[in-house]
Amino acid sequence: MNEETASKAPTALILFGPPGSGKGTQAKLLREALQVPHISTGDMLRERIALGDPLGRQVQGLMQAGRLVPDEVANRLVDERIARPDCASGFILDGYPRTIPQAEVLGRRLEEYGFEMVVIHLKVDYTIIIKRIAGRRQCPVCGTLYSLNSNPPKSENVCDHDGATLVIREDDQEDVIRERLEAYDRQTRPLLEFFAGAGFSPREVDAGLDGPEAILARIGGLLGKG
Ligand code: ADP
Repeated sequence: MNEETASKAPTALILFGPPGSGKGTQAKLLREALQVPHISTGDMLRERIALGDPLGRQVQGLMQAGRLVPDEVANRLVDERIARPDCASGFILDGYPRTIPQAEVLGRRLEEYGFEMVVIHLKVDYTIIIKRIAGRRQCPVCGTLYSLNSNPPKSENVCDHDGATLVIREDDQEDVIRERLEAYDRQTRPLLEFFAGAGFSPREVDAGLDGPEAILARIGGLLGKG
């Protein structure tokens, strides 16, 4: 490691974009490439649902309706997670922040911990998103995402890694997808201006038509230049 890299602040890499823009897929690839934790609020909330406690049931109802969970819930999950020692040299955030109050809480925390914030905006057309989410399948055990069109499992409906039967997420039904896109437009998209105003202009990546590896290379190029 040269001196320049050694003295650089650890990076909080924020993957930003509408539902189905490939944040989860890219986060998993980047985790391998950068060797830093991948923090997905969606996955953490699904773990909470699996516990079946009152908070889990509240989260489940909101998620199935395509709505966001309360900011305090998302903030608490992330706050606890990024305080853990494995995040000290940086981490990838997928699905957080999703509202301005979440971004404010995160911004304060990153400043306190001395992290640099880098925002990557995965841009994808909504017509592509709706098609893409309809073909999405997930392994309920390890969380790996597959796409029936562009990235199918080796054998039909079975996870390549652990042989579990793949599932369709309940919030991936078409009417719920539309609700999620609306929630994105209303609550999340305004963050693009918020980040820019705070001095963290999102770096744009065309994430529409190409496969995950090509998009990963684009992100790598932006990070290299950054
Ligand atoms: P996607 O990005 O494809 O919508 P996620 O797994 O990131 O998928 O999120 C699924 C759902 O989890 C969201 O629709 C929302 O209900 C909830 N959720 C995830 N992250 C947050 C967050 N930061 N704030 C509020 N709700 C969240």
